[in-house]
Amino acid sequence: MMVSENIYSKPATLDEAIHLVSQYGANFKFIAGGTDIMANKYQGNDVTNHFIDITGIEALKGIKIEENYIVIGALTRLDDLKKSKEIKDEFPLLLEAANAVGSPIIRKTATLGGNVLCENRCIFYNQSEWWREAVGYCLKCSGNICIATGGKKACFSEFISDTAPALISMNAQVRLIEPEGERVIALEALYTGDGVNPKTINNTSILKEILLPLSQNYRGAFKKLRLRETLEFTSLTTAVSIDKHDNIRIVLAGVDPKPVLIEGKKGDDKEELIKKAIKGARAVENDMFSRSYRRDMIRVFLNNCFKQIDI
Ligand SMILES: Cc1cc2nc3c(=O)[nH]c(=O)nc-3n(C[C@H](O)[C@H](O)[C@H](O)COP(=O)(O)OP(=O)(O)OC[C@H]3O[C@@H](n4cnc5c(N)ncnc54)[C@H](O)[C@@H]3O)c2cc1C
Repeated sequence: MMVSENIYSKPATLDEAIHLVSQYGANFKFIAGGTDIMANKYQGNDVTNHFIDITGIEALKGIKIEENYIVIGALTRLDDLKKSKEIKDEFPLLLEAANAVGSPIIRKTATLGGNVLCENRCIFYNQSEWWREAVGYCLKCSGNICIATGGKKACFSEFISDTAPALISMNAQVRLIEPEGERVIALEALYTGDGVNPKTINNTSILKEILLPLSQNYRGAFKKLRLRETLEFTSLTTAVSIDKHDNIRIVLAGVDPKPVLIEGKKGDDKEELIKKAIKGARAVENDMFSRSYRRDMIRVFLNNCFKQIDI
């Protein structure tokens, strides 16, 4: 079905939402807190004119324990995560990361699902329509050149979610509801590494829940580089976690179109882990901080994280 006029739908159940999805095909987007998608629409970066508002779907709400996992409904507001005793006790890193998002008002509106699915950013893309037209647009908005690199093949818009690095460092998984059925995948498998199309799922997938494994005794550290201490997107995020079996997961954001994941074990050469992380980060000159500064800060942040959690 072709949709040309503005349409707003609000299904009450997952079944209704899936029914709408099969009706509208590619011509819609889900809206949760709306803090990301509406800002992109206002700037003309998102031209969707049919929104399916999923905030009425009870199945996407709440936090519960299921077997050995804490299961966090995708619609959980970032500010509400701290109300869960289990999250406070076992996953304080998630609270620290959620608290780094935007400002208090944004955190009271934005959802965890929307945060892990928020759009990549770039200083040459997140501009007004006039600005982007004046420079001839870029690869991410139907131009034929990357303004940051001059290249014609790859877009390096940055993955900027604050909670995803913390979640991935603690082995988070996501449950997806799709017209074909339900599946659970590792959170990191959601991301392609392609700045134009950063997600492996298409717009017909509903993120239902985020799952974190319980009783892993995670110790973690989180650092975010930004120009101001509030209301600022990341220029580099590092999240490092170690579990009870001494497995280490290091995750970077803000320096690549996808989260950069490095795995190791306690006792591994830390300098080697840092080198791998810097090598994995395809940072380019598309941020308020220079590429070389952000790459240098990876070493500083990771050393600080290692010290903080004594690894
Ligand atoms: C001023 C400002 C500052 C910000 N600062 C930060 C920051 O510091 N850090 C940060 O990480 N983000 C920041 N953001 C971006 C945004 O606010 C957050 O990422 C927020 O968590 C997005 O959640 P949301 O519920 O509002 O998502 P929405 O805007 O509703 O949706 C975001 C995307 O996810 C999709 N989506 C949402 N939920 C689902 C679902 N359950 N299933 C399938 N698809 C879904 C939507 O279709 C859309 O593509 C900022 C935004 C603004 C306006």
